[in-house]
Amino acid sequence: MLERKQFDLGDIVMMKKQHPCGTNEMEIIRMGMDIRIKCVGCKHSVLIPRAKFEKNMKKVLRSNPKDQEDA
Ligand SMILES: [Zn+2]
Repeated sequence: MLERKQFDLGDIVMMKKQHPCGTNEMEIIRMGMDIRIKCVGCKHSVLIPRAKFEKNMKKVLRSNPKDQEDA
């Protein structure tokens, strides 16, 4: 079964490729047609298409606790 990856605003995710600064942890800071993620290491942010994000994301490390309470 192909399961759709679950992620939400404020989540810390692990990417398959690491950022040039050496970390592969990113925080989701904007959701939409495109996803804006911020590098946990150097605070640099990038905007990438959702499909590319889903392909490059390895897993969610930490979910935003507030969102889980609401759901
Ligand atoms: Zn970085």
